[in-house]
Amino acid sequence: MTLQAVLNALLPRRCPGCSGQLGHSAGLCVACQSALHPQLQSRSPLSEAAAPHLVVLGPYRGVLGRSVKALKYGGSRELAAILGTQLGSGIPASWGVQAVTAVPLHPARMNERGFNQAELLGRQVATRLKLPYLNALSRQRATGNQAKRHASERRNALDDAFLATAGLPETILLVDDVMTKGGAHM
Ligand SMILES: [Zn+2]
Repeated sequence: MTLQAVLNALLPRRCPGCSGQLGHSAGLCVACQSALHPQLQSRSPLSEAAAPHLVVLGPYRGVLGRSVKALKYGGSRELAAILGTQLGSGIPASWGVQAVTAVPLHPARMNERGFNQAELLGRQVATRLKLPYLNALSRQRATGNQAKRHASERRNALDDAFLATAGLPETILLVDDVMTKGGAHM
């Protein structure tokens, strides 16, 4: 058990969205939960091909921004369940998703943190959609210092950064906790 986990168990639980007392509930208070709405995005910064196939819970600020930060640093399963269930409810059945995966964390980060917040979310999305969760991607190598590269070089470096497992189903939903503008993950 980490020190943070011990502290979390001892201190009164606070809602990461509004800092209000959570009482016996865990994760996120009802008011903050009602502020989350999955949205289908018409434009994707990832790629043209992915454009009509993107669902987000909202911009990285306010209740959602604070919740995602809390998930990243605390790894609360209750919080992951609330966010993942909301995200999963926004995935259209027409996409025909067959399995769910998440963007892998860099191995050094994984060792340091002990969990991958994108995977925590992805597993909850899979549960919501009644689909299998697969470890479909692995990091092939460190992507290096992206800031020093030109855009085209940066894209190539990222293209090679992940390796897909063999024998995957055709349509897989990829879950990440934060999507940065122009910072394509795949
Ligand atoms: Zn709240």
